[in-house]
Amino acid sequence: MSFTTVSRACPNCAAPIESDSRFTDWCPGCDWNLGAEAPAPGRRAERCRARDRARVEALYQRLAASESQESGRHGAAWLAAVLIAGLVHLWTLAVLAGSLWLLLQPAAPLKGLGVVGLALAWLLRPRLGRWRRDPAALDRDRAPALYALLDRTADQLGTRRPDRIRITGAWNASYRRAGLRRRVEVTLGLPLWTVLTGPERIALLGHELGHGSNGDARRGFWLETALRTLEAWYQLLTPRSGEAFLGYRARRAATDALASALLNWLALPVRWVHGVLYRLTMRSSQRAEYRADDLAARAGSSADAATMLGKLLLGPGVATRITQQRAAHQHTRPGAGEDPAERFWTGLREYVDSIPGTERERRARLGERGMSAVDTSHPPTHLRVRMRAERPAQAALVTADATEWDAIHAELAPARRRVAEQLLGI
Ligand SMILES: [Zn+2]
Ligand SMILES: [Zn+2]
Repeated sequence: MSFTTVSRACPNCAAPIESDSRFTDWCPGCDWNLGAEAPAPGRRAERCRARDRARVEALYQRLAASESQESGRHGAAWLAAVLIAGLVHLWTLAVLAGSLWLLLQPAAPLKGLGVVGLALAWLLRPRLGRWRRDPAALDRDRAPALYALLDRTADQLGTRRPDRIRITGAWNASYRRAGLRRRVEVTLGLPLWTVLTGPERIALLGHELGHGSNGDARRGFWLETALRTLEAWYQLLTPRSGEAFLGYRARRAATDALASALLNWLALPVRWVHGVLYRLTMRSSQRAEYRADDLAARAGSSADAATMLGKLLLGPGVATRITQQRAAHQHTRPGAGEDPAERFWTGLREYVDSIPGTERERRARLGERGMSAVDTSHPPTHLRVRMRAERPAQAALVTADATEWDAIHAELAPARRRVAEQLLGI
């Protein structure tokens, strides 16, 4: 891959800047042209953002300072969340009991109401998450080396082995427990997996499998089902999803407007309780994420956990790159004997390896400015990277040799083809 690097002077502070034709020119000295900040839609939203930022940073400070004393302890906020979740479950139970009572009444209208109530209780039942057949799932007998690596990592961290691995096109990885048996599913995004080094991959597995033992209250049965029930209530009450649910397109008649206003009004307390539960569990949830990062460092070493987290910040650049590759693919015919899927993955890896240090630094500073996180439950990535430096350095507990990586690479070949076709729109 060839690209040009030239030097020029910063128009703002005249410091010399390295300019790479593929990336935005910017100045590390004065942050000139660092990148577009997300437009603040109003002063209220701006204040809200500043408050969230202060809260997340304060939490980071406290956790960085006190992790050793308070690990595993739950605070008053957690207790309040557990109690509120209990009330949510009690409410579902009351709907069920009330409906059964109505069904036993002799009057037909009351019986009818009972049937409606039962349907409601069914819709709002605590959901454990479905475990259904999934084309992205990779069976254990199809990928023994990959499963062996995850099993080994889980054993070393003292957490549960995965029951299923899924391979997707996401720039992320995730962990989920589902069904009555709370089976474990680990999802690996192939673009991210491809650009990580071996030890960084093990760190990623350490984080994900660490979700099985990091004490995340939001993922515990009691709180998770309460949050899901509230989400189901909200969907039921907000007119837009209500229309889809009933399967008709409502005419904007006066009665409809009135009904939706009423439903919106009823949905408000549901949203409020959901917000309170979310707020109350934020500390526990973010602490659990930092702890999962500790487990990432234990599995793959501190240094590799930090560089793995740093690579997460390259997501926007990778997304642009994939769009370019998709466009290029549609305009070129593959040469004889050339495999477009494998070419795509090699291209992606070469692209990430060739990103210069200044561009990585720009992404890191942009991530810090925008407080970007992989999703709403994870702390901002730059704080996760910083936390690695605060914690004592760890050596890797889990390693894999070249033969093992080759075997895993071979096992992932069908997934590489499927995901590449999906990303390239073949
Ligand atoms: Zn400058
Ligand atoms: Zn996580």
